[in-house]
Amino acid sequence: METEPDYGVAILIGLCASLVLALLTVAYLSVARLNRQLLQANAKLADQSLRDGLTGLYNRKFLDEKLAACLSLCQREQLPLTLAMLDLDYFKQLNDMHGHMFGDHCLRQFAVLLQQHFQRPTDFLIRFGGEEFVLISVGVDEAAMAKLIQEFINGVAEHLMTLDQQQSHCSVSVGWLCQIPQQDHQVAQWLAQVDAALYQAKANGRNGAVNARSVDAKMA
Ligand code: GH3
Ligand code: MG
Ligand code: MG
Repeated sequence: METEPDYGVAILIGLCASLVLALLTVAYLSVARLNRQLLQANAKLADQSLRDGLTGLYNRKFLDEKLAACLSLCQREQLPLTLAMLDLDYFKQLNDMHGHMFGDHCLRQFAVLLQQHFQRPTDFLIRFGGEEFVLISVGVDEAAMAKLIQEFINGVAEHLMTLDQQQSHCSVSVGWLCQIPQQDHQVAQWLAQVDAALYQAKANGRNGAVNARSVDAKMA
């Protein structure tokens, strides 16, 4: 005797299979979404560990890594590298006169001005510590960089820092070096040269820039 196929059972099995498939798809999609969120959170954390809390610029840790990488790149590709150290003038006086909160505000404003003036993807802005900042830039020649730095110095001097009822002008001194690095150049050597140029800029009366190559020439 022939038995009728049990369509009811077949439909039930089909429905169960579809349900399991749908549940698996939902589970897979939510795991994928969680994974994406985790990756984003990790990337954000990694970025934050390289940022300065007050200004949002990069921090000293970033400088150590980036400067070495840029120096190697410029040596390999024969590209001009700029390293500039920027130090706000008489910042202690500004703090003493207007208070630390106003000082903090000026540091944040200064960082914004830096970001407005140095916007290329190959410009890296770092808070070195306190009221000292560093610019690393790849691919800009010395004449163009001299102009950019002077424009920045003028921009800072013209900017009136304002917070509530308090107002003050600031100025900045800059020591800088821009050249195609030689094969035997080292990061520490570049930092020392730029630091000496900054020292010279302060000695020259502040609110100005000194090219480290002119300091070298004087020392020779
Ligand atoms: P110069 O023109 O020679 O650079 O003089 P200066 O007063 O800027 O330099 P000095 O090194 O004597 O003083 C730096 C001041 O920067 C003292 C310190 O209180 C202030 N400073 C450092 N970090 C911060 C900060 O995060 N916030 C504020 N408000 N002030 C800071
Ligand atoms: Mg200073
Ligand atoms: Mg200083």
